[in-house]
Amino acid sequence: MEVRTRFAPSPTGFMHVGNLRTCLYGYLFAKKNNGKFILRIEDTDQERYVEGAVEIIYNTLKKAGIEHDEGPDKDGGVGPYIQSERKAIYLEYAKKLVELGGAYYCFCDKERLDSLAGENGIKKYDKHCMNLTPEQVQQKLASGVPYVIRQNIPQDGVSSYNDMVFGEIAVPNADMEDGILIKSDGMPTYNFANVVDDHLMNITHVIRGMEYLSSTPKYNLMYDKFGWERPQYMHLPPIMRDATHKLSKRHGDANFEDFLEKGYLVPAIVNYIALLGWAPSDNREKMSMAELMDAFDIKGISKSGSILDEAKMKWLNSQYIKELSEDEFVALAKPFFEKSKAAGKYDYKKLAKLLIPRVEILSDIPSKIDFLEEFEGYDKELYENKKNKMDKQIAVEILEKCIPKFEQTDDYSEENLQAIISEIIEQGGYKKGQVFLTIRLALTGAQMTPGGATEMADLLGKQETVRRLKYSLEYLKG
Ligand code: GLU
Repeated sequence: MEVRTRFAPSPTGFMHVGNLRTCLYGYLFAKKNNGKFILRIEDTDQERYVEGAVEIIYNTLKKAGIEHDEGPDKDGGVGPYIQSERKAIYLEYAKKLVELGGAYYCFCDKERLDSLAGENGIKKYDKHCMNLTPEQVQQKLASGVPYVIRQNIPQDGVSSYNDMVFGEIAVPNADMEDGILIKSDGMPTYNFANVVDDHLMNITHVIRGMEYLSSTPKYNLMYDKFGWERPQYMHLPPIMRDATHKLSKRHGDANFEDFLEKGYLVPAIVNYIALLGWAPSDNREKMSMAELMDAFDIKGISKSGSILDEAKMKWLNSQYIKELSEDEFVALAKPFFEKSKAAGKYDYKKLAKLLIPRVEILSDIPSKIDFLEEFEGYDKELYENKKNKMDKQIAVEILEKCIPKFEQTDDYSEENLQAIISEIIEQGGYKKGQVFLTIRLALTGAQMTPGGATEMADLLGKQETVRRLKYSLEYLKG
């Protein structure tokens, strides 16, 4: 039997990383088993619908490198793949379920439903409309009384199934409510649509968030009533912000787009998300999509929630950044260069060379290069602070020797500048570190820079290098 999994997002806004992980696992599981991965848009809840959210779903999948085999834009013969276009199908099957005794029409109005609240405030429907005769039902339908269709759940017994991640799940039928399957507007609820669609779309493995773990017995009761084969279920534990809180949309920063904005690279995001709740048997950490596909195995899925550790995610991202060529880095980093004070003023490729080993996420870039434009001269305090080993007089001496040499040459290559500085060190008998630091500080005024004295001089170019050295010399002397 061909394995078929599906991703069934509701178009409610940006793609939360939890949803993206569900999507990824569905994709990996299908591909690992030479199966098909289906995209279905669950848009029956009109109130939660957000304009543009369907495009976000497509774009996210595309960017992440997750390719669906079937979906609204790729017909596989079991469509439509958008739930709002399947309204008639749900109604047809709901009626069938009524005939089979698995559901019934309910005409109770709000007032009656409100009156059902028990002492604890829980309103469990009391099967009132089950008592209507078929004639009464027909009469009400004919006279246009608003109705919903409810599931008829047995009052005794236990419903159970074996979840591929969580094992045996058993829920007493008495704990479940006769939930609404078709709403008064004729639209199905998730509770009904997921069953009908997963069956009609021949889904073999339902992979979704854990919030559906305990309602799945209800769905199975419907499969059984219809005489349909139940799918296998794989419910996934939540992604956590910390030990006790789920990573929620409200908390922000939890969407795929947020991570892109922060300057994470797509393969790093996908890689990290894959590891949130799953680990390969050899505990590898850096994995490409092809490697994930090859290694994915439900045995590695954990039952407990996993904490999204941004420090770890940044580290992983830095590993991907280190593999970029300078050109690739420039292309990806452009928006971040543009945000810095140094925007447009330096050779981005030269900056790339300095930054590739030094940034974890691309949004680190502005803070790493802003100093280039914040130059205000030598940090005098550094020399007046007795604790450090810098000597102001020696710094003056070094700069006085350095300036004419930097003025005379036009070759600002690393090798040439190194040779010039080495000469100054030898002739003056200075300590190496002292000379490099003096020049670097004179050029940047910053204690931390991505790269040393020669790299800074190369970046700034001759004219600006000499101007800054002179400025710092005067400043130090003054
Ligand atoms: N539309 C549901 C959601 O976004 C899908 C759940 C499922 O995969 O069945 O939560």
